[in-house]
Amino acid sequence: MMRSKSEYLPQRTCIACRQIKEKKALIRLVSTENGVAAIDVFGKKPGRGAYLCPKKTCWELALRKNRLDYALRIKLHDDNRQTLLEYSHNLLEES
Ligand SMILES: [Zn+2]
Repeated sequence: MMRSKSEYLPQRTCIACRQIKEKKALIRLVSTENGVAAIDVFGKKPGRGAYLCPKKTCWELALRKNRLDYALRIKLHDDNRQTLLEYSHNLLEES
């Protein structure tokens, strides 16, 4: 894909470490209608979204300190939290 220097690159803030990064460098999570937080692989799902670095430390912080709950305005179920923590185990410790 061709990109010109003047093209606007959308940026988002990681809800855990608060670093501003290019949107495509972050993982989007979205709250579904039944109050479940899901990973939005393509970043296109409708609904309230939150962004996290692809880093284990950010995910653990967001999940353990209820930052994700707050950002998505939901109350995470324990199994939902567990699923996301398991996903984060595949991520790098630091990026
Ligand atoms: Zn982060």
